[in-house]
Amino acid sequence: MEKKILFANIDDPGQPEIDTYISKGGYESFKKVLKEMKPEEVIEEVKKSGLRGRGGAGFPAGMKWSFVPKDSPKPKYLVCNGDESEPGTCKDRVLMEHDPHLVVEGMAIAAYAIGANHAFIYIRGEFDHPANQMRKAIGQAYDKGYLGKNILGTGYDLEMIVHTGGGAYICGEETALLNSLEGKPGQTRIRPPFPAVEGLYACPTVVNNVETLSNVSLIIKNGGEWYASIGTEKSTGTRIFCLSGHVKNPGNYELELGTPLSYLINDLGGRVIDGKKLKAIIPGGSSTPILLPDKIDTPLDFESIAQAGSMLGSGGVIVMHEDTDMVWVARTLAHFYMHESCGECTPCRQGTKWIYDILSRITFGEGKMDDIDLLLDLCDNIDGKTICPLGDAAVIPIRSTINLFRNEYEYYIKTGKPLVNNKFMSFV
Ligand code: SF4
Repeated sequence: MEKKILFANIDDPGQPEIDTYISKGGYESFKKVLKEMKPEEVIEEVKKSGLRGRGGAGFPAGMKWSFVPKDSPKPKYLVCNGDESEPGTCKDRVLMEHDPHLVVEGMAIAAYAIGANHAFIYIRGEFDHPANQMRKAIGQAYDKGYLGKNILGTGYDLEMIVHTGGGAYICGEETALLNSLEGKPGQTRIRPPFPAVEGLYACPTVVNNVETLSNVSLIIKNGGEWYASIGTEKSTGTRIFCLSGHVKNPGNYELELGTPLSYLINDLGGRVIDGKKLKAIIPGGSSTPILLPDKIDTPLDFESIAQAGSMLGSGGVIVMHEDTDMVWVARTLAHFYMHESCGECTPCRQGTKWIYDILSRITFGEGKMDDIDLLLDLCDNIDGKTICPLGDAAVIPIRSTINLFRNEYEYYIKTGKPLVNNKFMSFV
């Protein structure tokens, strides 16, 4: 069901101001950890909450923090990933715009927990307004003494810096983000070593997503057990789902994890537009396999969506109705991944271009029946053979549309025309 904990104050126009935030109990959690809790106790509380990363992979946040070596003589860094770029996903932007202090406080607590005195927020280049909101909020936090030297007389120092990227999807991948933050091209690093051991400037670094960190002050305020009591046993808390596509009421909705997908699409989304039939759902951003309508009652949690054959990913739920040209959808997404490939490894750099070219010739009426197998062969030669997950992500929409809608590919190739006509996501 809908449950607003991150979005509790999202409609208050005064929320981005620090005085409003403080008047509602803001920064009390940060004060509490500074004055009453040791860093390891903060990590334990977050572990108890079961909070998992909201960027896509779903890795437990507390565990990630505990990987930072305590005895390392090097400085430690906290990096908040605000490079939200996954097609269909637009919730971190809203948190940064409308409740920036929730993000700042979460970052400050996480930095304290891992022993960092510097925290960066990396925001995608196109996000002018969110970046300005974060700059303003950080400035206010400095003015009130929540950031800077000897915070609240506790001896703890924390500098917080906003860094805007150049607008590259790959910089949402944590190692490419770190390279970009260092002023290098946004290309991925081979792991291991993992950032917790060797991250920013080769120092221990934790990278967490905006939504993940926004939960942290609420966990400290209400306790890890409170957070764990929301959602399901293994998928605790809430999640912001970004509903888009052929629904009457698209938008961002915060739901308790485990809520059925049908509640999001039908009850909140107002069902499919124009009385059309539902055809397909991308449940977690464009890098997640498509689900058919028979999966509409699947609970929105990590395990159930995986069992249904897809992933919860970044929370971007894209709905498509019966007239959607699924080959065109595949072509549009293929263009995206081709354009966003950083070019570091050959299967992704070359393969995404070939996939796009083949899909283009099919949709322009020049396809050959062998093209379908050729596409699948290309997918096999990219999947698992690249440095970062972008290659794996790029093949997902191709395999998914061929497996579920092969008849549409065959119709295109035989007749030179689409079986159905809606050029959904027609931006290329
Ligand atoms: Fe770059 Fe693609 Fe290789 Fe990732 S998979 S490193 S984006 S070329």
